[in-house]
Amino acid sequence: MKRTFAFLSILIIASLACGLPAAETPSAAVVEPVETQPTEAATQPQVQNEAGGDAVLYFTIGMHIEPMGETAQGFGGGKADYHNPQFFDKQVKDILEVTQLVESHGGRMTIQAQSPFTTVAIESGNTILADLAASGHEIALHFHEDAHMGKNSSALQPLDWCNVLKEEIGYITQASGVTDIRYWSGGNLYVDMYEAAECAGLDVNSDWKNPNTQSTDMSLTGVHPWRPAGGTDGADFTLFTQNDPNGAVVFLPEGQYDKTDFAASRRSDEAGGDEAYFEYLKESLYASLEAAEAGKVNVFHFTIHPGEFRGSPRDPFGVIEKFLTEVVDPLVASGDLQWMTLSEMADAYAEIEQ
Ligand SMILES: [Zn+2]
Repeated sequence: MKRTFAFLSILIIASLACGLPAAETPSAAVVEPVETQPTEAATQPQVQNEAGGDAVLYFTIGMHIEPMGETAQGFGGGKADYHNPQFFDKQVKDILEVTQLVESHGGRMTIQAQSPFTTVAIESGNTILADLAASGHEIALHFHEDAHMGKNSSALQPLDWCNVLKEEIGYITQASGVTDIRYWSGGNLYVDMYEAAECAGLDVNSDWKNPNTQSTDMSLTGVHPWRPAGGTDGADFTLFTQNDPNGAVVFLPEGQYDKTDFAASRRSDEAGGDEAYFEYLKESLYASLEAAEAGKVNVFHFTIHPGEFRGSPRDPFGVIEKFLTEVVDPLVASGDLQWMTLSEMADAYAEIEQ
């Protein structure tokens, strides 16, 4: 296994190095092979909640597994490194603890990974991603362009991005056994991201945040998914916010948030720590329930990282447990909220969109 992996890595690094010069990649080849998506057969809008005719809000918690250590493409590094077995095992333990907590509340998550987490899992024979998939969690891609393509990523062609995306998807499949990896987060400031993602077979996206400012444009908040007509450079959201019925990718906004730093506010000391962050999540969830409309697909989700909100050793992940028990469970019981993975939400949207 180890030798195969090393050999594969060499092949991949070699092929990546060959693919790097932008001039060698004819851009026409990038634009042309866009697959035409079969248009959805017109279907009757689903009647939600026949009893009351009320709207249902689809809900999940996503997890970003960050690229700690040198990636399969040879970028990155640093102290925190999955190649250190102790660090890797601790992360695995944290991931399992949170996912089992969510499972105990009837929920399923969308777990987003990349190398070197995936490659270390493959090398060491760790089956966490396969186990999570077997438990019903969605396995997906979290993509840091710097970690997989270096500092120059924005100058590379969509086909270069596509190739690296495919490579990362390949490792996720190898580590998890899941062959239909559809969802990704990341690559947010690359204007041609949607073209690259479609080329790599990805069709569900969310968690847009400007990595430089750690903020999310208010035009991307709300509860109703759409198919963006194109990507954004972080300043111009015209194409991103425009619905293209033939677009290959469904974008899932995170919910009815009312400030631009919601995705990063948990890291801010001014925000008041974990308790205050979950209080804000609760308010935003309630605002999202208000914004939800019957007959439409309505979504709300937020993101955590392994080890985040760990709390005290005597009450691990207590703030998450409290949120699920006090806020989420009653809404699920009343039928207002329904657990769904991110790709399931996109499928629900594809089913009712006109
Ligand atoms: Zn990340």
